[in-house]
Amino acid sequence: MTMTGKKIVISFLRARILFRLRGLAIVSAIVAALLGGFGFTSYAEGSLTQKLESFSFDKLFDLKGLKLELGFSRPAALRGKRCSLKLIAVGDVLIHDSLRRSAATDAGYDFQPPFEHVAGLLKQADLVIANLENPLAGADRKFSGYPNFNAPDELASGLRKAGFTAVTVANNHSLDRGWSGLERTLKTVDAAGLKYIGAYASPDDKLSRLVSVHNGIKVALLAYTYGLNGRAPPKAGEEWRLGVIDLDLIFRDMAQARDQGADFVILSLHFGNEYQRKPSSEQKELVSKLLAGGRAPGQAGPDLILGHHPHVVQPLIYLAGKGGRPSQAVIYSLGNFITSQPFPYTDLGLILDVQLSIEADGRRTIGPFRLIPTYCQKGADKKGRFFRVIPLELAAKRPQDYGIGNESAKKLAKQFFEMARHLTSMLEPIDGLEPTTAQAIDPLLKTH
Ligand SMILES: [Zn+2]
Repeated sequence: MTMTGKKIVISFLRARILFRLRGLAIVSAIVAALLGGFGFTSYAEGSLTQKLESFSFDKLFDLKGLKLELGFSRPAALRGKRCSLKLIAVGDVLIHDSLRRSAATDAGYDFQPPFEHVAGLLKQADLVIANLENPLAGADRKFSGYPNFNAPDELASGLRKAGFTAVTVANNHSLDRGWSGLERTLKTVDAAGLKYIGAYASPDDKLSRLVSVHNGIKVALLAYTYGLNGRAPPKAGEEWRLGVIDLDLIFRDMAQARDQGADFVILSLHFGNEYQRKPSSEQKELVSKLLAGGRAPGQAGPDLILGHHPHVVQPLIYLAGKGGRPSQAVIYSLGNFITSQPFPYTDLGLILDVQLSIEADGRRTIGPFRLIPTYCQKGADKKGRFFRVIPLELAAKRPQDYGIGNESAKKLAKQFFEMARHLTSMLEPIDGLEPTTAQAIDPLLKTH
């Protein structure tokens, strides 16, 4: 008999005595412990699945109405009317060979089906951005996946039809098909009705695209990458071609955007270590320098930083401003949006959904923050392999609706709770703003 077995027998004998002495309640507790001791994991996981029903991710990821308060941006003469826009951002769209093949049709390619379960959500926002990681360099340059990507043009139209309005194109694969591949990507994206951010056709093109207006609000979206997989960055004086991370350049661009009247400045940063769930020291250092702003006058830091490249989700942080209230926020990595990568956590991503508002008195606010985790399902049916992006909450709560088997469903239930815990794992409570997530989730994750 094993040690566990002996313990169980002893516990059971004790249970019988206790039953006589102390009654039913104690026996129930011991029976529960015995079940655990016998390795009834399915019982424990089943109960986590059941618990899922009483939670919504919004409730779990409760930041008590996190709102960034940014002060005034407009001259008094322009104030008087509250305006607001909804921004949605997701992480990497990276089309490996298997994903491309799954989108093949008799007539070409169709990238709309993978997004059909999130399109409704995306279409609710005014500004919807993804990181387009692969060039669209044309069929004559041969389509390919890792390591030198080239995806079909239908990817751009598929993203547009799914509800995206813009893509960032500054990342380590931007030059996988050289400068001509990047230039063709910009034209293709534009023809599909998507705005591009982070690489430009000319200095004037960059200037005209620094700030965009939505519902009367001027938003500056700027994108930069840590590197280009060994390829040379733009020459001095041609930095407009492609955003490569450089503090001076970023501060100059942000100041320029504010000169153009930007009410909000948002940075998209392609940075960090792949498959690392926490930001690297380089990421943290860069972020703190950027948030602090430059030394020259007018070089204020960004309001919001959206990170990607690690292919897994990294946590959220916010920083307090002068009044002690949150005034800047950073999501270190939004993870993958659509992918065929097989590594742990690469099938999970985030939809960041946030309101940017200017109150009637001119105060600017960003919030409330809503983070919607996504799951990229890899499956196969009669037609062959398929990939589709599903909100994690729906996939975990209604697995049967998506043909998700029991084992995967149990894993998703655990990931649902774990994701909320992970997202808040770097938050420091400030001024009474304390996420309740840890208290709610830690016991759940410990006991199951
Ligand atoms: Zn990347």
